[in-house]
Order: sequence, then structure tokens, then C-alpha cells
Amino acid sequence: MEIRICHLYPDILNLYGDRGNVTCLKKRLEWRGISCSVDEVSVGDSLQASKYDLFFIGGGQDFEQGVLLDDLKGQKTAEIKAAIEDGAPFLAICGGYQILGNYYRTWDGQQCDFIGAIDVDTIGQKERMIGNYMFTCDDLGGEAVVGFENHSGRTYLGSGVKPIGKVLSGHGNNGEDGFEGARYKNVFATYSHGCLLPKNPKVADLLLTWAIRRKNPSFELPPLDDALENNAHEYMQKRLSKVES
Ligand code: GLN
Repeated sequence: MEIRICHLYPDILNLYGDRGNVTCLKKRLEWRGISCSVDEVSVGDSLQASKYDLFFIGGGQDFEQGVLLDDLKGQKTAEIKAAIEDGAPFLAICGGYQILGNYYRTWDGQQCDFIGAIDVDTIGQKERMIGNYMFTCDDLGGEAVVGFENHSGRTYLGSGVKPIGKVLSGHGNNGEDGFEGARYKNVFATYSHGCLLPKNPKVADLLLTWAIRRKNPSFELPPLDDALENNAHEYMQKRLSKVES
């Protein structure tokens, strides 16, 4: 079995080393003897989404999001929407999360119409929401996920879209309703940048399980020795729990 990952706009959307999440997914497959290929698809490349088992799109600032608008229109939008409706797992981070939604209105009034693959809207404010944060993950029975956020956009969920979970510390989607991220079909969209998957290995395995089960519905991922990853996770969980208490 080979898992084929599509990394969208790796040269443009890669804040805080978001691409490390792709390395993490690949390594966790290879450590289990499952081969993995990664195709990078960027501006000017045509996207044939049905070739892939899992998609990743990272974060970017308002400028980078604007640069992509023309390229996203048409063929790429249609392919991404079709893959999502077909149940392809999709990890989207911050700017990439916003891009999957309907639109982003920046704090100074610029309107970026995005692809509308998930029903979420984002409205910017001058004051950014920055820092380490922590939230629950309903798909993991309410377990805590630790992350880092830095965004001006406040995201509001529409019909058929659930949050990943509740904010335990920090801001999350909008700093108002207490929710973080968006779940629709097998989309996992979050504000959590950088090494999300290395320090939350259960989230990595959740995405890999979704990808593999599209090919083999009864597949169980063999466990890995996650002692180091779990230490990193627990250290941040403790630190952020103290912030709140
Ligand atoms: N430009 C978006 C915002 O500020 C996304 C930023 C990011 O990906 N960190 O809300």
C-alpha cells in the first residue's frame, strides 16, 4: 500500500514550519512499513485530486493568501471541493483553513473570496490573536491538543460544520464562542501552526487512519513508541493548564 499526499502551495503557505506536518505524516507511515509519496502542487500546476489519499495546506499571511486567489479559481477549486465531498482527509492550517471557507474580509476592508469548500466565514480585526493555546478534540474523545496560533481573522462556522473542540486556553476560532477549528467530512481545519502533528501524534494518526481506511476500511494502525512526542505534548499541556488556573 502507498499513501499519496498532496501538499498544496508549499512554497507560499509555510508559516512557522507548517510543512513539518507533512514530514511527520510521511515518517509515521514509513516507521510502520507503509510507503508514502508527497507531491507539491503550487501556482500554475494543475491539480488532479483523485490521485491523492490525503491533502495538506499550510498557513500564510494576508499577502500570500491574496497572491493565490487567481490560481485557486476554476480547476483547483473544483478539484479540492470534489475531493473533500468524496471524503479525502484534509489538514488545513490557519490561512489554509480560511482559504477552504467562503471568504476572508481583512481588518482594513479587503474582501478575499475563497473557495467555499466548507461553510465558514472569516473577518479580520486589527488586534491579532497570538500565542500557545490548547483545545479539546471531539474525534479523540475530548483529549487536549496543544498548538500555537497567530491570526487576525475571526472564523465563524456555518451549516454542517462542527468545531474540532472547545478552547481550553487561548483564543481559537474567534475568541468569542469558545470553539476551535472546523470539521466537515474528513476536513480537519485548525488555527494551530507549526509542529501540530509532531507534538500531537494522536491527531497525526487520526488523519492517517482516515486516509488508509478509504482504501482498507478495517485497517488498524500499529502503535508507535511515542514517548518523546508524548513528553512534548504533556509538557505544553501542563504549561498551558497553569496559564488558565
Ligand atoms: N492572514 C490570516 C490571518 O491573519 C492567516 C494568518 C496565518 O496563517 N497565520 O488571519
